[in-house]
Amino acid sequence: MKIHEYQAKDILRRFAINTPRGSACFSIDEAVKAAEQLGGSAWVVKAQIHAGGRGKGGGVKLAKSLDEVKQFAAKILGMTLVTHQTGPQGQVVRRLLVEEGVDIRKELYIGLVVDRSSRRVCLVASSEGGMDIEEVAAGTPEKIHKVFIDPLAGLTAQDAEDVARKIGIEESAAAAARTLLQGLYRAYDSTDASLLEINPLILTAEGHLVALDAKMNFDDNALFRHPDIAELRDLDEEDPAEIEASRHDLSYISLDGNIGCLVNGAGLAMATMDIIKLYGGSPANFLDVGGGATAEKVAEAFKLMLRNPNLQAILINIFGGIMKCDVIAEGVVAAAREVKLKVPLVVRLEGTNVDLGKKILAESRLLIISAGNMADAAEKAVTAAASAAESAMGGA
Ligand code: ADP
Ligand code: MG
Repeated sequence: MKIHEYQAKDILRRFAINTPRGSACFSIDEAVKAAEQLGGSAWVVKAQIHAGGRGKGGGVKLAKSLDEVKQFAAKILGMTLVTHQTGPQGQVVRRLLVEEGVDIRKELYIGLVVDRSSRRVCLVASSEGGMDIEEVAAGTPEKIHKVFIDPLAGLTAQDAEDVARKIGIEESAAAAARTLLQGLYRAYDSTDASLLEINPLILTAEGHLVALDAKMNFDDNALFRHPDIAELRDLDEEDPAEIEASRHDLSYISLDGNIGCLVNGAGLAMATMDIIKLYGGSPANFLDVGGGATAEKVAEAFKLMLRNPNLQAILINIFGGIMKCDVIAEGVVAAAREVKLKVPLVVRLEGTNVDLGKKILAESRLLIISAGNMADAAEKAVTAAASAAESAMGGA
Protein backbone atom coordinates (compact mmCIF):
# COMPACT_ATOMS: atom_id res chain seq x y z
CA MET A 1 0.00 0.00 0.00
CA LYS A 2 1.18 3.50 -0.82
CA ILE A 3 0.54 6.70 1.11
CA HIS A 4 0.92 10.41 0.39
CA GLU A 5 4.00 12.47 1.14
CA TYR A 6 2.31 14.44 3.95
CA GLN A 7 1.23 11.20 5.61
CA ALA A 8 4.74 9.75 5.35
CA LYS A 9 6.14 12.94 6.88
CA ASP A 10 3.68 12.62 9.79
CA ILE A 11 5.01 9.12 10.43
CA LEU A 12 8.63 10.23 10.16
CA ARG A 13 8.08 13.01 12.72
CA ARG A 14 7.19 10.31 15.24
CA PHE A 15 10.71 9.00 14.72
CA ALA A 16 12.22 12.43 15.35
CA ILE A 17 13.06 13.04 11.68
CA ASN A 18 13.21 16.74 10.75
CA THR A 19 10.67 17.72 8.09
CA PRO A 20 9.44 21.13 6.95
CA ARG A 21 6.34 22.36 8.77
CA GLY A 22 3.27 22.06 6.61
CA SER A 23 -0.26 20.82 6.28
CA ALA A 24 -2.50 18.92 3.90
CA CYS A 25 -5.12 20.99 2.05
CA PHE A 26 -8.16 20.01 0.03
CA SER A 27 -9.16 23.43 -1.32
CA ILE A 28 -7.61 26.71 -2.44
CA ASP A 29 -8.90 28.49 0.66
CA GLU A 30 -7.35 25.89 2.91
CA ALA A 31 -4.05 26.27 1.08
CA VAL A 32 -3.96 30.04 1.61
CA LYS A 33 -4.98 29.66 5.23
CA ALA A 34 -2.28 27.05 5.79
CA ALA A 35 0.36 29.36 4.32
CA GLU A 36 -0.85 32.25 6.50
CA GLN A 37 -0.60 30.10 9.58
CA LEU A 38 2.88 28.88 8.66
CA GLY A 39 4.07 32.46 8.30
CA GLY A 40 7.40 33.33 6.68
CA SER A 41 7.91 34.55 3.13
CA ALA A 42 8.25 31.40 1.00
CA TRP A 43 5.98 28.38 0.70
CA VAL A 44 5.98 25.30 -1.43
CA VAL A 45 2.71 24.06 -2.90
CA LYS A 46 2.96 20.34 -3.60
CA ALA A 47 0.59 18.02 -5.43
CA GLN A 48 -0.15 14.92 -3.37
CA ILE A 49 -0.42 11.87 -5.60
CA HIS A 50 0.97 8.38 -5.17
CA ALA A 51 3.75 8.94 -7.69
CA GLY A 52 7.10 10.66 -7.79
CA GLY A 53 8.54 13.03 -10.37
CA ARG A 54 5.98 15.69 -9.44
CA GLY A 55 8.50 18.52 -9.56
CA LYS A 56 9.34 17.89 -13.21
CA GLY A 57 5.67 17.47 -14.08
CA GLY A 58 4.74 20.89 -12.66
CA GLY A 59 3.27 19.60 -9.40
CA VAL A 60 5.69 21.33 -6.99
CA LYS A 61 5.83 25.14 -6.99
CA LEU A 62 7.69 27.65 -4.86
CA ALA A 63 5.47 30.60 -3.92
CA LYS A 64 6.91 33.93 -2.77
CA SER A 65 3.62 35.51 -1.67
CA LEU A 66 0.21 34.43 -0.40
CA ASP A 67 -1.16 35.47 -3.76
CA GLU A 68 1.18 33.04 -5.48
CA VAL A 69 0.16 30.31 -3.04
CA LYS A 70 -3.39 30.93 -4.17
CA GLN A 71 -2.46 30.87 -7.86
CA PHE A 72 -0.44 27.67 -7.59
CA ALA A 73 -3.06 25.93 -5.46
CA ALA A 74 -5.70 26.83 -8.07
CA LYS A 75 -3.49 25.55 -10.83
CA ILE A 76 -2.43 22.29 -9.21
CA LEU A 77 -5.66 21.20 -7.49
CA GLY A 78 -7.69 19.25 -10.01
CA MET A 79 -4.95 19.10 -12.64
CA THR A 80 -4.07 15.80 -14.27
CA LEU A 81 -0.44 15.45 -13.34
CA VAL A 82 1.66 13.36 -15.69
CA THR A 83 5.03 12.18 -14.40
CA HIS A 84 7.36 9.36 -15.38
CA GLN A 85 5.73 7.31 -12.63
CA THR A 86 2.03 7.95 -13.40
CA GLY A 87 2.02 6.61 -16.95
CA PRO A 88 0.75 8.74 -19.85
CA GLN A 89 -2.81 8.95 -18.50
CA GLY A 90 -1.58 10.88 -15.43
CA GLN A 91 -3.26 11.21 -12.07
CA VAL A 92 -5.80 13.81 -10.92
CA VAL A 93 -4.58 15.92 -7.98
CA ARG A 94 -7.11 16.04 -5.15
CA ARG A 95 -4.89 17.01 -2.24
CA LEU A 96 -2.09 19.49 -1.69
CA LEU A 97 0.67 19.85 0.83
CA VAL A 98 1.51 23.45 1.65
CA GLU A 99 4.76 23.69 3.53
CA GLU A 100 7.43 26.21 4.44
CA GLY A 101 10.02 26.90 1.77
CA VAL A 102 13.40 25.70 2.96
CA ASP A 103 16.78 27.08 1.99
CA ILE A 104 18.57 24.21 0.27
CA ARG A 105 22.37 23.98 0.32
CA LYS A 106 22.71 20.41 -0.91
CA GLU A 107 20.29 17.69 -2.00
CA LEU A 108 21.11 14.11 -0.97
CA TYR A 109 19.34 10.82 -1.57
CA ILE A 110 18.36 8.13 0.97
CA GLY A 111 16.32 5.01 0.28
CA LEU A 112 15.46 1.85 2.17
CA VAL A 113 14.21 -1.20 0.28
CA VAL A 114 14.16 -4.96 0.66
CA ASP A 115 16.97 -6.54 -1.31
CA ARG A 116 15.65 -9.98 -2.15
CA SER A 117 18.95 -11.53 -3.22
CA SER A 118 20.69 -10.73 0.07
CA ARG A 119 17.41 -11.08 2.00
CA ARG A 120 18.12 -7.89 3.86
CA VAL A 121 16.94 -4.34 4.00
CA CYS A 122 19.27 -2.25 1.90
CA LEU A 123 20.10 1.36 2.68
CA VAL A 124 20.80 3.22 -0.56
CA ALA A 125 22.45 6.62 -0.32
CA SER A 126 23.88 9.19 -2.68
CA SER A 127 25.35 12.66 -2.59
CA GLU A 128 23.47 13.38 -5.82
CA GLY A 129 19.88 13.65 -4.59
CA GLY A 130 17.10 15.62 -6.24
CA MET A 131 15.05 15.20 -9.31
CA ASP A 132 17.63 13.39 -11.46
CA ILE A 133 18.47 10.43 -9.23
CA GLU A 134 17.46 7.92 -11.92
CA GLU A 135 20.10 9.37 -14.28
CA VAL A 136 22.71 9.24 -11.51
CA ALA A 137 21.99 5.56 -10.91
CA ALA A 138 22.19 4.81 -14.63
CA GLY A 139 25.17 6.96 -15.57
CA THR A 140 27.36 7.12 -12.46
CA PRO A 141 26.51 4.08 -10.33
CA GLU A 142 29.69 4.64 -8.28
CA LYS A 143 27.87 7.57 -6.69
CA ILE A 144 25.26 5.21 -5.21
CA HIS A 145 26.30 3.64 -1.89
CA LYS A 146 24.63 0.62 -0.30
CA VAL A 147 24.54 -0.96 3.14
CA PHE A 148 22.89 -4.33 3.66
CA ILE A 149 21.43 -4.21 7.14
CA ASP A 150 21.62 -7.13 9.56
CA PRO A 151 18.05 -7.51 10.89
CA LEU A 152 19.29 -8.44 14.37
CA ALA A 153 21.74 -5.56 14.76
CA GLY A 154 19.71 -2.95 12.87
CA LEU A 155 21.58 -0.07 11.23
CA THR A 156 24.77 0.22 13.30
CA ALA A 157 26.26 3.57 14.31
CA GLN A 158 29.39 2.66 12.39
CA ASP A 159 27.55 1.90 9.14
CA ALA A 160 25.41 5.02 9.49
CA GLU A 161 28.47 7.22 9.99
CA ASP A 162 30.33 5.61 7.08
CA VAL A 163 27.44 6.21 4.72
CA ALA A 164 27.04 9.79 5.91
CA ARG A 165 30.73 10.43 5.17
CA LYS A 166 30.50 8.82 1.73
CA ILE A 167 27.65 11.09 0.67
CA GLY A 168 29.55 14.17 1.75
CA ILE A 169 27.93 15.07 5.07
CA GLU A 170 30.57 17.01 6.98
CA GLU A 171 31.95 15.93 10.35
CA SER A 172 29.98 18.61 12.24
CA ALA A 173 26.72 17.00 11.11
CA ALA A 174 27.94 13.39 11.56
CA ALA A 175 26.10 12.76 14.84
CA ALA A 176 22.85 14.22 13.47
CA ALA A 177 23.22 12.13 10.31
CA ARG A 178 23.72 8.97 12.33
CA THR A 179 20.62 9.65 14.43
CA LEU A 180 18.64 10.46 11.30
CA LEU A 181 19.66 7.33 9.39
CA GLN A 182 19.00 5.10 12.38
CA GLY A 183 15.64 6.84 12.88
CA LEU A 184 14.74 6.17 9.24
CA TYR A 185 15.64 2.51 9.62
CA ARG A 186 13.52 2.23 12.78
CA ALA A 187 10.63 3.93 10.97
CA TYR A 188 10.97 1.46 8.10
CA ASP A 189 11.34 -1.60 10.28
CA SER A 190 8.66 -0.90 12.84
CA THR A 191 5.97 0.05 10.32
CA ASP A 192 6.63 -2.99 8.08
CA ALA A 193 7.41 -0.66 5.21
CA SER A 194 8.51 -2.05 1.87
CA LEU A 195 9.98 1.24 0.66
CA LEU A 196 11.08 4.44 2.33
CA GLU A 197 12.61 7.08 0.12
CA ILE A 198 13.80 10.54 1.09
CA ASN A 199 14.66 12.40 -2.08
CA PRO A 200 15.87 14.92 -1.41
CA LEU A 201 17.28 14.79 2.09
CA ILE A 202 18.77 18.25 2.30
CA LEU A 203 21.49 20.09 4.13
CA THR A 204 20.19 23.55 4.95
CA ALA A 205 22.28 26.70 4.93
CA GLU A 206 22.60 26.29 8.73
CA GLY A 207 23.89 22.72 8.31
CA HIS A 208 20.68 20.95 9.43
CA LEU A 209 19.43 17.77 7.80
CA VAL A 210 15.79 17.91 6.69
CA ALA A 211 13.65 15.34 4.84
CA LEU A 212 12.17 17.51 2.08
CA ASP A 213 10.30 14.71 0.35
CA ALA A 214 9.11 11.38 1.74
CA LYS A 215 7.72 8.31 0.09
CA MET A 216 6.60 5.22 1.99
CA ASN A 217 5.08 1.97 0.77
CA PHE A 218 3.94 -0.80 3.10
CA ASP A 219 3.76 -4.55 2.94
CA ASP A 220 0.04 -5.34 2.51
CA ASN A 221 0.47 -8.63 4.31
CA ALA A 222 1.53 -6.82 7.47
CA LEU A 223 -1.10 -4.05 7.42
CA PHE A 224 -3.27 -5.89 9.93
CA ARG A 225 -0.60 -5.03 12.48
CA HIS A 226 -0.89 -1.30 11.72
CA PRO A 227 -4.52 -0.21 11.67
CA ASP A 228 -3.43 3.44 11.91
CA ILE A 229 -1.48 3.06 8.66
CA ALA A 230 -4.19 1.00 6.94
CA GLU A 231 -6.52 3.96 7.57
CA LEU A 232 -4.33 6.18 5.40
CA ARG A 233 -5.27 4.26 2.27
CA ASP A 234 -6.51 6.60 -0.47
CA LEU A 235 -8.74 4.70 -2.88
CA ASP A 236 -8.75 7.63 -5.33
CA GLU A 237 -5.13 6.77 -6.09
CA GLU A 238 -5.71 3.11 -6.84
CA ASP A 239 -6.83 1.20 -9.91
CA PRO A 240 -10.59 0.52 -9.51
CA ALA A 241 -10.17 -3.06 -10.76
CA GLU A 242 -7.46 -3.70 -8.16
CA ILE A 243 -9.64 -2.24 -5.39
CA GLU A 244 -12.49 -4.54 -6.43
CA ALA A 245 -10.05 -7.46 -6.47
CA SER A 246 -8.80 -6.77 -2.96
CA ARG A 247 -12.44 -6.72 -1.78
CA HIS A 248 -12.76 -10.31 -2.98
CA ASP A 249 -9.33 -11.24 -1.70
CA LEU A 250 -8.01 -11.82 -5.22
CA SER A 251 -4.50 -10.97 -6.37
CA TYR A 252 -5.12 -8.87 -9.47
CA ILE A 253 -2.81 -6.46 -11.27
CA SER A 254 -3.84 -4.57 -14.41
CA LEU A 255 -1.39 -4.75 -17.29
CA ASP A 256 -1.46 -3.19 -20.74
CA GLY A 257 -1.88 -6.23 -23.02
CA ASN A 258 -5.05 -7.80 -24.44
CA ILE A 259 -5.10 -11.40 -23.19
CA GLY A 260 -6.86 -11.81 -19.85
CA CYS A 261 -5.39 -14.52 -17.61
CA LEU A 262 -7.22 -16.39 -14.89
CA VAL A 263 -4.89 -18.76 -13.10
CA ASN A 264 -4.57 -20.48 -9.77
CA GLY A 265 -1.30 -19.90 -7.95
CA ALA A 266 1.02 -16.93 -8.31
CA GLY A 267 3.84 -19.00 -9.81
CA LEU A 268 1.63 -20.52 -12.47
CA ALA A 269 0.16 -17.08 -13.16
CA MET A 270 3.67 -15.69 -13.77
CA ALA A 271 4.54 -18.64 -15.98
CA THR A 272 1.31 -18.14 -17.93
CA MET A 273 2.17 -14.50 -18.60
CA ASP A 274 5.66 -15.56 -19.69
CA ILE A 275 4.39 -18.15 -22.12
CA ILE A 276 1.89 -15.70 -23.62
CA LYS A 277 4.85 -13.39 -24.26
CA LEU A 278 6.84 -16.28 -25.69
CA TYR A 279 4.14 -16.84 -28.30
CA GLY A 280 4.14 -13.17 -29.20
CA GLY A 281 1.11 -12.06 -27.18
CA SER A 282 0.69 -9.67 -24.29
CA PRO A 283 -1.17 -10.32 -21.01
CA ALA A 284 -3.93 -7.90 -19.94
CA ASN A 285 -3.59 -8.73 -16.27
CA PHE A 286 -2.08 -10.87 -13.59
CA LEU A 287 -4.78 -12.77 -11.72
CA ASP A 288 -4.30 -15.44 -9.11
CA VAL A 289 -7.59 -16.81 -7.78
CA GLY A 290 -5.74 -18.68 -5.06
CA GLY A 291 -6.02 -22.24 -3.90
CA GLY A 292 -9.24 -22.32 -1.92
CA ALA A 293 -11.48 -20.25 -4.18
CA THR A 294 -15.22 -20.90 -4.37
CA ALA A 295 -17.23 -20.83 -7.60
CA GLU A 296 -18.50 -17.36 -6.57
CA LYS A 297 -14.98 -16.06 -6.17
CA VAL A 298 -13.97 -17.44 -9.55
CA ALA A 299 -17.01 -15.72 -11.05
CA GLU A 300 -15.98 -12.41 -9.44
CA ALA A 301 -12.47 -12.86 -10.80
CA PHE A 302 -13.82 -13.54 -14.26
CA LYS A 303 -16.02 -10.46 -14.25
CA LEU A 304 -13.19 -8.33 -12.98
CA MET A 305 -11.05 -9.38 -15.88
CA LEU A 306 -13.84 -8.58 -18.34
CA ARG A 307 -14.05 -4.97 -17.22
CA ASN A 308 -10.92 -4.30 -19.23
CA PRO A 309 -11.92 -2.66 -22.53
CA ASN A 310 -8.71 -3.86 -24.21
CA LEU A 311 -9.50 -7.50 -23.65
CA GLN A 312 -9.47 -9.59 -26.85
CA ALA A 313 -9.11 -13.12 -25.54
CA ILE A 314 -9.10 -14.96 -22.24
CA LEU A 315 -6.81 -17.73 -21.15
CA ILE A 316 -7.86 -19.81 -18.17
CA ASN A 317 -5.00 -21.93 -16.96
CA ILE A 318 -5.77 -24.12 -13.99
CA PHE A 319 -3.76 -26.81 -12.38
CA GLY A 320 -6.20 -28.30 -9.90
CA GLY A 321 -4.46 -29.34 -6.72
CA ILE A 322 -6.26 -27.96 -3.72
CA MET A 323 -8.38 -26.04 -6.22
CA LYS A 324 -10.76 -28.36 -8.02
CA CYS A 325 -11.33 -28.06 -11.77
CA ASP A 326 -15.10 -28.42 -11.44
CA VAL A 327 -15.26 -25.43 -9.07
CA ILE A 328 -13.37 -23.33 -11.60
CA ALA A 329 -15.63 -24.54 -14.41
CA GLU A 330 -18.78 -23.70 -12.46
CA GLY A 331 -17.53 -20.21 -11.67
CA VAL A 332 -16.50 -19.55 -15.26
CA VAL A 333 -19.80 -20.77 -16.71
CA ALA A 334 -21.86 -18.70 -14.25
CA ALA A 335 -19.87 -15.55 -14.93
CA ALA A 336 -19.71 -16.04 -18.71
CA ARG A 337 -23.51 -16.38 -18.83
CA GLU A 338 -24.04 -13.35 -16.63
CA VAL A 339 -21.84 -11.06 -18.70
CA LYS A 340 -22.73 -12.55 -22.09
CA LEU A 341 -19.15 -13.29 -22.96
CA LYS A 342 -18.06 -11.97 -26.32
CA VAL A 343 -14.33 -12.61 -26.42
CA PRO A 344 -12.82 -16.02 -27.23
CA LEU A 345 -12.12 -18.17 -24.20
CA VAL A 346 -9.24 -20.63 -24.15
CA VAL A 347 -9.23 -23.12 -21.28
CA ARG A 348 -6.54 -25.45 -20.10
CA LEU A 349 -7.57 -27.60 -17.16
CA GLU A 350 -5.48 -30.22 -15.45
CA GLY A 351 -5.54 -32.00 -12.10
CA THR A 352 -8.22 -32.72 -9.50
CA ASN A 353 -11.69 -33.39 -10.99
CA VAL A 354 -10.49 -32.45 -14.47
CA ASP A 355 -13.02 -34.68 -16.23
CA LEU A 356 -15.89 -33.22 -14.27
CA GLY A 357 -14.61 -29.71 -15.02
CA LYS A 358 -14.41 -30.41 -18.74
CA LYS A 359 -17.88 -31.89 -18.70
CA ILE A 360 -19.34 -28.78 -17.07
CA LEU A 361 -17.67 -26.59 -19.68
CA ALA A 362 -18.81 -28.79 -22.57
CA GLU A 363 -22.41 -28.89 -21.35
CA SER A 364 -22.50 -25.13 -20.87
CA ARG A 365 -22.48 -24.71 -24.68
CA LEU A 366 -20.26 -21.70 -24.27
CA LEU A 367 -17.86 -21.20 -27.12
CA ILE A 368 -14.72 -22.55 -25.54
CA ILE A 369 -11.41 -23.35 -27.19
CA SER A 370 -9.94 -26.15 -25.14
CA ALA A 371 -6.21 -26.69 -24.95
CA GLY A 372 -4.20 -29.77 -24.08
CA ASN A 373 -1.25 -28.14 -22.39
CA MET A 374 0.15 -24.74 -21.51
CA ALA A 375 2.01 -24.14 -24.77
CA ASP A 376 -1.05 -25.14 -26.77
CA ALA A 377 -3.21 -22.86 -24.62
CA ALA A 378 -0.90 -19.88 -25.01
CA GLU A 379 -0.63 -20.33 -28.75
CA LYS A 380 -4.39 -20.58 -29.13
CA ALA A 381 -5.00 -17.53 -26.94
CA VAL A 382 -2.47 -15.46 -28.89
CA THR A 383 -4.03 -16.51 -32.21
CA ALA A 384 -7.55 -15.83 -30.95
CA ALA A 385 -6.58 -12.38 -29.66
CA ALA A 386 -4.85 -11.53 -32.93
CA SER A 387 -7.85 -12.48 -35.05
CA ALA A 388 -10.23 -10.68 -32.68
CA ALA A 389 -8.07 -7.56 -33.01
CA GLU A 390 -8.01 -7.95 -36.78
CA SER A 391 -11.76 -8.34 -37.17
CA ALA A 392 -12.32 -5.37 -34.82
CA MET A 393 -10.14 -3.27 -37.13
CA GLY A 394 -11.80 -4.67 -40.21
CA GLY A 395 -15.20 -3.86 -38.80
CA ALA A 396 -14.27 -0.26 -38.00
P1 ADP B 1 9.15 14.97 -6.54
O1 ADP B 1 10.23 14.05 -6.08
O2 ADP B 1 7.84 14.26 -6.71
O3 ADP B 1 9.54 15.75 -7.74
P2 ADP B 1 9.84 16.67 -4.26
O4 ADP B 1 9.11 16.75 -2.99
O5 ADP B 1 11.15 15.95 -4.22
O6 ADP B 1 8.87 16.06 -5.37
O7 ADP B 1 10.06 18.14 -4.79
C1 ADP B 1 10.80 18.44 -5.96
C2 ADP B 1 11.86 19.47 -5.68
O8 ADP B 1 11.24 20.65 -5.15
C3 ADP B 1 12.86 19.05 -4.61
O9 ADP B 1 13.95 18.34 -5.18
C4 ADP B 1 13.29 20.38 -4.04
O10 ADP B 1 14.33 20.93 -4.82
C5 ADP B 1 12.07 21.25 -4.16
N1 ADP B 1 11.32 21.32 -2.88
C6 ADP B 1 10.43 20.42 -2.41
N2 ADP B 1 9.96 20.77 -1.20
C7 ADP B 1 10.56 21.93 -0.88
C8 ADP B 1 10.50 22.82 0.27
N3 ADP B 1 9.71 22.59 1.32
N4 ADP B 1 11.29 23.93 0.23
C9 ADP B 1 12.09 24.19 -0.83
N5 ADP B 1 12.17 23.41 -1.92
C10 ADP B 1 11.43 22.29 -1.96
MG1 MG C 1 11.40 13.88 -4.54
